[in-house]
Amino acid sequence: MEEKKTVFVTGASRGIGKEVALKYAENGYDVIINYVSDKTDVEALEKEFKEKGADALILKADVSNPEEVQNVVDKAIEKFGKIDVLVNNAGITRDNLLMRMTEEEFDKVLEINLKGTFLVTKAVTKYMMKKRSGSIINLSSVVGVAGNAGQCNYSASKAGIIGFTKSIAKELASRNIRANAVAPGFIETDMTAVLSDSVKESIHNQIPLKRMGSANEVAELIYFLGSENSSYITGQVINIDGGMVM
Ligand code: NAP
Repeated sequence: MEEKKTVFVTGASRGIGKEVALKYAENGYDVIINYVSDKTDVEALEKEFKEKGADALILKADVSNPEEVQNVVDKAIEKFGKIDVLVNNAGITRDNLLMRMTEEEFDKVLEINLKGTFLVTKAVTKYMMKKRSGSIINLSSVVGVAGNAGQCNYSASKAGIIGFTKSIAKELASRNIRANAVAPGFIETDMTAVLSDSVKESIHNQIPLKRMGSANEVAELIYFLGSENSSYITGQVINIDGGMVM
């Protein structure tokens, strides 16, 4: 029988990350996920993964904290022995116009979105290098490609993720580890639920497909990038945005 594969998805208690982790679970993977808020119902999450036939390790950890990241990765290796696919999904926004943006708002977004991606990738890659195989998928955003007024911190973090992804794709290719970024447009999750109806309407007008995307549509792409069906794709940024940025 073929060995079961494992995926580690950061920030997977809800939104895109949860949908991604469930997609891998229904395709026969065991899953490692983390979350950060005390509101997360770990038992309910465990039940959802079990129903998909997956063994799940669900741990509270802040991706911007090196010790907490190392702890999750150590526990994952202890339980499953390997991590085949890493999805760096955890991310936050703290939107403001440049002139109003505080240093705290800028630093927090860079720390979680960009430094968090670095810390988790470094800790997990050690094991992928030993195995000489792996696939890393990092969540960027269309605003990391095209910019967005009111999001200079978030856009900088997501543009940073693109540079980071291309660099590690070059470094790790010889070890048979691929790295790609996905750049979603507007996707229906808690992150976009806070937008007013008028903002949502103006967003729809900028999207050729005239609607927001679903977390499941993003999960399908991320599943493809983690699978052997994408074995010749590395160092790419793939937009999934209804045609918003071409
Ligand atoms: P979301 O619904 O707000 O969920 C964010 C997830 O990240 C939650 O599981 C949250 O955990 C976790 N998280 C936040 N801070 C963390 C930290 N310091 N350490 C560990 N986990 C943390 O977000 P989403 O909309 O699904 O977005 C997921 C990713 O896609 C993000 O990187 C985002 O930037 C990117 N993206 C989203 C969109 C969109 O339109 N939604 C578009 C482009 C890119 P808790 O539940 O414990 O708080």
